[in-house]
Amino acid sequence: MTIQLINASVTFNGVEKVDALKNISLTINKGDSLTIIGPSGSGKTTLLNVIGGMVPLTNGEIFVEKQAIHQLTTSELQKYRRTNIGYIFQDYRLFDQFTVLENIMLPQWPYQSKEKMEEKAKALLKELHISHRETALPASLSGGEKQRVAIGRAILHQPDILLCDEPTGNLDEVNRNNVMDILNMLREQGITIILVTHDHEVAKHGTKKIFIRDGEIV
Ligand code: ADP
Ligand code: MG
Repeated sequence: MTIQLINASVTFNGVEKVDALKNISLTINKGDSLTIIGPSGSGKTTLLNVIGGMVPLTNGEIFVEKQAIHQLTTSELQKYRRTNIGYIFQDYRLFDQFTVLENIMLPQWPYQSKEKMEEKAKALLKELHISHRETALPASLSGGEKQRVAIGRAILHQPDILLCDEPTGNLDEVNRNNVMDILNMLREQGITIILVTHDHEVAKHGTKKIFIRDGEIV
């Protein structure tokens, strides 16, 4: 998917006014994977959320494959997120009371037939090497296993874009490499990976890198 931001700005009007993104212009071509590096508070998560259609632009434009995301209605945005976007986080955000298999299927539950979903979920578990934990609850998993379940959940609906917010931040080296191998495999399958990281080893992956500071690309 081609993603293009043109003079994109986000201002949060809370108690204090924060210019989280300032005039960002950026093109991510089909087949690229983008790595975003920058200090805490520089606007990295806000940028992911803009691409994911979760934070609206205050100014500027964002196009995803010719679709003007900044002009979509609420229901069009929901559909955009549901069909195009997968999201993984540093802290996994699994549903504690559900099994591994259920965690992977839950977000798609209202939209797909159970049989079809279960078949896809089981194939994914196999690909992610966690089939043997299918009936386990998240509390009994290692960090690396949790992140693999989170990846499974994020890609069950075959999104075009996978947003990754510090996905290896809580993992040791072995599990970090494991997760990066999976993300590289997904990129080769054609998913656009956009990844935020502090880790310079992780930042070596990806076809395109940007550094942001105080809401600007430097
Ligand atoms: P990073 O992910 O690089 O740490 P963020 O994108 O989370 O940075 O935040 C960028 C700036 O915007 C920070 O100053 C943060 O406090 C502010 N910010 C982020 N989200 C909100 C929000 N929902 N409301 C108000 N300010 C916010
Ligand atoms: Mg952040």
